[in-house]
Amino acid sequence: MNYRHVFHAGNFADVVKHTILTRILTYLMRKDAPFRVIDTHAGVGLYDLKGPAAAKTGEWVDGIGRLMGRKLPDDATALLAPYLDAIRAQNTDGNLRFYPGSPLITRTLLRPQDRLMALELHPQDVDILRENFAGDFQVRVTHVDGWQALGTHLPPKEKRGLVLIDPPFEERGEFARMVESLIKAHKRWPGGLYALWYPIKDPEDVADFVDMLAESGISKILRLELKIRAASLPPRLHGTGMIIVNPPFVLEEEMRVLMPLLAEVLSDEQRGSWKVDWIAGE
Ligand code: SAM
Repeated sequence: MNYRHVFHAGNFADVVKHTILTRILTYLMRKDAPFRVIDTHAGVGLYDLKGPAAAKTGEWVDGIGRLMGRKLPDDATALLAPYLDAIRAQNTDGNLRFYPGSPLITRTLLRPQDRLMALELHPQDVDILRENFAGDFQVRVTHVDGWQALGTHLPPKEKRGLVLIDPPFEERGEFARMVESLIKAHKRWPGGLYALWYPIKDPEDVADFVDMLAESGISKILRLELKIRAASLPPRLHGTGMIIVNPPFVLEEEMRVLMPLLAEVLSDEQRGSWKVDWIAGE
């Protein structure tokens, strides 16, 4: 396991992923009934953007570094508030230094009745994650293979909630593994909300992934993609994608407001593009 998210924390892909995460959680908060979030590849939870690892790549500078403090239209500002507030909560002096990962962003939106399960396999990262949530009875951190553990936690007893699947894509075959895991999980919990992150690097991999999803027999699959530049050879990361199964009914409309603005802010020299469409309908 070589992947360490600290090198990428707060980059353009995190910005889009975490914006979507907060829009989904904000929707779940509309009802008082408790919900549960299962974060299968949680990372460490909090990243120091000024530390040596993040500073080495500086990826956050063209991600959250561009968005924070940017003046946007009122509707977008309101939709982004839960995400940006979660970051502000970690930077109370007003300077951007700490970036919260998915478990910590989720935590800021949990009400007393809600729960988070954060799964992480990296032996050092899981220790840091545990420390970050020490004494927090609403969060359970588990050192486990997120792919294998996923099935055993479904359906959650709350019968409402989100499964976030955000693997490192270090190995080939990760796209197929993701679809297989989704199919298994969906059989156990067809009514759950699922958010699957994927990198847009090699257009063929992404096309195959979308075909597999379209043929999975699962309905209500929304695709959200943002590219910050055109594809190039050899393939390099140029876009970020998220698949949402059973999306909140407001998500498509909200993302149609946010995606053009995020594409403008995050893309290289206005060469960005975005897509919001359905891979499978009702
Ligand atoms: N979800 C995090 C966020 O948004 O802040 C970032 C997660 S990062 C992309 C992927 C994480 O998955 C890494 O921390 C890595 O150590 C962990 N990981 C890799 N393989 C795993 C597995 N089989 N089960 C659980 N975690 C795994």
